[in-house]
Amino acid sequence: MFEDKNPELTPISKLGEFGLIKHLTEFFPLSNESSEVGVGDDAAVVNPGNRKVVLTTDVLAEGVHFNLGYVPLKHLGYKAVVVNLSDIAAMNATPTQILVSIAVSNRFPVEALEEIYSGIQAACGRYKVDLIGGDTTSSNSGLVMSITAVGIEKEENIVRRNGAKPNDLLVVTGDLGGAYMGLQILEREHTVFLANPNMQPEMEGFDYILERQLKPEARTDVKGILEQLDIKPTSMIDISDGLASEILHLSDQSNVGFRLYEEKIPMDNLTITTADDFNLNPVMAALSGGEDYELLFTISSNDFDKIKNHPDFTIIGHAVEKEDGNFMVARGSNQLVALTAQGWDAFLGNQKED
Ligand code: ADP
Ligand code: MG
Repeated sequence: MFEDKNPELTPISKLGEFGLIKHLTEFFPLSNESSEVGVGDDAAVVNPGNRKVVLTTDVLAEGVHFNLGYVPLKHLGYKAVVVNLSDIAAMNATPTQILVSIAVSNRFPVEALEEIYSGIQAACGRYKVDLIGGDTTSSNSGLVMSITAVGIEKEENIVRRNGAKPNDLLVVTGDLGGAYMGLQILEREHTVFLANPNMQPEMEGFDYILERQLKPEARTDVKGILEQLDIKPTSMIDISDGLASEILHLSDQSNVGFRLYEEKIPMDNLTITTADDFNLNPVMAALSGGEDYELLFTISSNDFDKIKNHPDFTIIGHAVEKEDGNFMVARGSNQLVALTAQGWDAFLGNQKED
């Protein structure tokens, strides 16, 4: 996309590595008390006080995790931060700092990095996290970005994947499957565009699912909502790979099985109608699509009354004994369908029969 030498674009070599880092990071003030030393020294200093430090990192590689043919760079920066914050939120912790490392080929001008950093900055502002460091290097091909997020949390608040007990309720935030259907729209329109660059993409009416794919949000708000309801989850995970795969992770680490009720899986109408257009089963988009970045957790059944009518949460099933396995109870028939962690390709072969 930047191949044509546009004389108005600035090659990275013009600023040099140190000039570039300074240029990209100068509008990132530190706002959290725990951020003692940020960008500019040999390393950052974070002061957790008497709390625990929660750490996570994610690498995004061009062509593997994103396609710059249809992902705007600003969204890429934003999403790269959000996926990390989602992991911190899934520990029931509060994100406070990030580090951003970038390997970039000379096909990218300074302006491209400015776009990425404007997305990173928007996410830092929205979630009140500080950019405290990173690394910048050249790459022979493409763009690779690695983000590390830091969270600081009281020990007693941290929730792991391993605490679910039989009879606990299985709860999910928001709705599922939208990000995957958004990706289907983007890929369809990109294919049309490659075949005929004069064609205008047809994106109208798909705003919600496009946003779910391009500009997801991390559910850092859930921690506060659960606190207000006086609920501490017994186990928790974020939905990055699809509901089925995350249920199996909770099952594995908590040593329980699960029953998931198909009719309870929350899905937006647009997800359902778009899946119909593509001749896909929307339930499969929820189970195996991934990238929804909602939270999936278990709570004691004693907490049922506290959560039952809450608009942010849907009870979708419950934990059972490990020996009873992981099954979805099919809509209408009550038939049990084994939950498997289907990958991307397996999913594509799983189209609905008419
Ligand atoms: P060193 O050579 O010691 O690794 P660098 O020159 O790479 O130091 O980094 C200088 C400072 O800039 C450090 O504080 C580092 O964390 C920060 N930094 C480097 N690259 C980035 C980046 N892409 N985003 C944010 N901070 C960065
Ligand atoms: Mg360095």
